[in-house]
Amino acid sequence: MTALRDIVGGEAPSFSFEFFPPKTEAAARTLWHTIRRVETLAPAFVSVTYGAGGSSRDRTVEVTKRIAAETTLRPVAHLTAVGHSVAELRHIIGQYADAGVRDILAVRGDPPGDPNAPWIPHPDGFTHAHQLVRLVKESGAFSAGVAAFPERHPRSADWDSDIRHFVAKCRAGADYAITQMFFHVEDYLRLRDRVAAAGCTTPIVPEIMPATDVRQIGRFAALSGAAFPEHLAHRLEAARHDPAQGHRIGVEYATAMAERLLAEGAPGLHYITLNRSTATLEIHRNLHTPTTPTTPTTIGEPHGLAAPR
Ligand code: FAD
Repeated sequence: MTALRDIVGGEAPSFSFEFFPPKTEAAARTLWHTIRRVETLAPAFVSVTYGAGGSSRDRTVEVTKRIAAETTLRPVAHLTAVGHSVAELRHIIGQYADAGVRDILAVRGDPPGDPNAPWIPHPDGFTHAHQLVRLVKESGAFSAGVAAFPERHPRSADWDSDIRHFVAKCRAGADYAITQMFFHVEDYLRLRDRVAAAGCTTPIVPEIMPATDVRQIGRFAALSGAAFPEHLAHRLEAARHDPAQGHRIGVEYATAMAERLLAEGAPGLHYITLNRSTATLEIHRNLHTPTTPTTPTTIGEPHGLAAPR
C-alpha cells in the first residue's frame, strides 16, 4: 500500500473525509449511508474521531475496523492521550495493527468536560502529542498525522512556541498534518509560511467545514476558537428560517475557500462531514466539475480577504 505521506504529499491534491462514531442505531445508519456515498469517490482516506472517554472510544475502534474490513476505503484512526496510560495506548494501536489499520492521527486531546481546563496527564501517560507520534511510529509500519492550528493553538502563549512545538511533532515522525477548522484562507497561508520558514516541509492539509446554519457558529467557536467572518454570519442570519438558502450560502463559501486553497498550493482538502454527505459532496462536485457555476464574487472573503481582524 502506498504510504499516506506519499499520497498527501504527492503531485495531485488529496481529498479526504472525517466522521465521528455514531451514538445510536439511527445515527449509525446515517453514517454508513454517507460512507457508501463517499466510497464511490475513492478519497485518499477517511478518518474517524476519538471521543473524550467511555463507550464512544470503543465505537471509534469498531467503526474504524469495520471500514477497513468492509469497504475499499483507507481508514485513519484518530487517537488521543486523554486518560490513557502508555500501555493502554499500545493496546489500542495493537488492535489497529490486527485489523490492518496502518494510519493514525495522533492528537493530544483536551480535558474531558471543559477543553480549557488545566491539562492533567495520566500518571503513566503522555503530556504532548509528539510523544504519541513517537509511540505510533515505534509501534510498526504506521503513518502518523498531527493537528495544526491556523489561528494557533488556544493554549500557545505566542506564535514562536506554537510553531516550535508543531515542528517538534513533525520531527518526531509526523507524515502530514490536518488543520483545525478555519474560515479565513489567509490564516492557513500564514501558518504554512511560518512552518516553512522554520525549515519544516511536512504537508499541512486544510480542513473544510461548511457552515450552513447561523446556529452552528457558537458551537464552532466553542470547539475550535475559529474566528467567523462577520459578513458570512450576517448572510446566514438572514437565512435563519430558510435552511435551503443557508445550505447554499455555506456550500458556496466553502467551495470558494477550497478553490483558493488549492490555487495557493494546499496539498489537499479534508472535509468535516458531521456524518452527512450532502454539503461536502456538493463542494467536492463543485471543485471537480468545471462547468458548475460557483459565485465567488458574492462571497468576499476567500478571494477578497479584505476584512482585517
Ligand atoms: P499538542 O501538540 O500537544 O499541543 C497542545 C498545546 O501544547 C499547544 O499549545 C502546543 O504548542 C503546546 N505544546 C506542545 N508540545 C509542547 C512541549 N513540548 N512543551 C510545552 N508545550 C507544548 N480531539 C479529540 O479529543 N479527538 C479527536 O479525534 C480530535 N481530532 C482532531 C483532529 C484535528 C485535525 C485537529 C486539528 C484537532 C483534533 N482534536 C481532537 C483536538 C485536539 O486534541 C486539541 O486541539 C488539543 O488541544 C491539541 O492537540 P495537539 O495534538 O495539537 O496537542
